[in-house]
Amino acid sequence: MSQKITAIRGFNDILPAETWRWAEVESVLRDLMRSYGYHEIRLPIVESTPLFARAIGAVTDIVEKEMYSFDDRGGESLTLRPEGTAGCVRACLEHGLTYNQTQRLWYTGPMFRYERPQKGRYRQFHQFGVETFGMTGPDIDAEQVLLTARLWKMLGLDQVVRLELNSLGESDERARFRAALVTYLEQHREELDEDSQRRLTSNPLRILDSKDPDTQAVLENAPRLPDFLGEESLSHLTQLCAVLDAAGVAYVVNPRLVRGLDYYNKTVFEWVTSELGAQGTVCAGGRYDGLVEQLGGQKTPAVGFAIGLERLLLLHAAVHPEVEQSEADVFIAAVGEGTAQPGLLLAEQLREALPDLRVLLNCGGGSFKSQFKKADKSGARFALVIGQDEAAAGRVSVKWLREEREQHTLAQADLAAFLKEIHTL
Ligand code: ATP
Ligand code: MG
Repeated sequence: MSQKITAIRGFNDILPAETWRWAEVESVLRDLMRSYGYHEIRLPIVESTPLFARAIGAVTDIVEKEMYSFDDRGGESLTLRPEGTAGCVRACLEHGLTYNQTQRLWYTGPMFRYERPQKGRYRQFHQFGVETFGMTGPDIDAEQVLLTARLWKMLGLDQVVRLELNSLGESDERARFRAALVTYLEQHREELDEDSQRRLTSNPLRILDSKDPDTQAVLENAPRLPDFLGEESLSHLTQLCAVLDAAGVAYVVNPRLVRGLDYYNKTVFEWVTSELGAQGTVCAGGRYDGLVEQLGGQKTPAVGFAIGLERLLLLHAAVHPEVEQSEADVFIAAVGEGTAQPGLLLAEQLREALPDLRVLLNCGGGSFKSQFKKADKSGARFALVIGQDEAAAGRVSVKWLREEREQHTLAQADLAAFLKEIHTL
């Protein structure tokens, strides 16, 4: 026997037992975006490698060790997108979408990062993301936090997520803080975990969210980012907090919240949960006023966030473990020789008359008993049976599957009216 080919590590199949939940969440997201006036943008999965190096930052985890990059047959270096913001900004510039106008955009799709696969962390994963351009805020920052808060409510998850906020200030403020932080941490180098020691020279701010307890202990007495923020950065954060207070959205300002991507300034925020173990960040985002210019456009303020859909789906399944009960409203059983075709035509006739009705047809014959087993499993409320007698007489039998009601027969011509009547009950 030849060896079986399996999926690549960290690349998941999403099976029918889960896709209904994905579809449900995606449809809520779509409705939410519509209600806030955001437009969908669909972007390529592959971009030229320098886009990510320039946008995300050369010394970030993503660019240093997580990208799927390869040379195409023409020798150009391409990368499977590790996130959506860089490509979105690239597309906006290429098509003039941010030129003298504001934009509110959203996208969804697969992202790729070479990470160690574990629960909530995969090599192909999906993000739903939002990017807005041309608004200096903090009103637009607040709108995005509020819309995510509304999403948790719509999905029944508001009790299991909490909001953390911070301001990263402007680049000069961050630079002064970085210098002070490095000076302090250098004195405690030996107490830091290995990753953090490495980051001292490459990406010292990232040390702030190290999970290592010894590093955390050192950070207790480290310089604090808020002490380095100027008046404008502080007031931006204060105004955002005031909106959230007024709207009744709870949050914690976490002065150690930083992001793994270089392009953020001022507001950063994360929605986190305790239900998913170490992979607790469900949604992360913030302001990135410098990125458009950095990628060759005019200076354009911007705010965005991304939700990790696998994590969101895991959370949804944990909080709402019930599975979808039914796959059909009506099951059509065609029993006996010569009934397959009338069964098919009947199913088509019903779909034509009642486009909302979910009609599941038994294909492949089988005994009365085996067809009823399938009918029951489908979750349908009743089965329509076409046997040889019914087929010959142009009639159909109605057999109720969930309630004590007499079986009866109907002329096929009256079926649509009958279904309309009971379907609306
Ligand atoms: P983490 O600290 O968990 O690695 P990150 O800072 O790298 O996250 P972002 O780049 O901000 O994450 O991506 C936004 C969101 O996308 C994350 O909050 C998370 O929900 C999701 N995400 C990121 N990487 C992965 C992954 N490898 N697998 C599944 N989801 C992911
Ligand atoms: Mg990461």
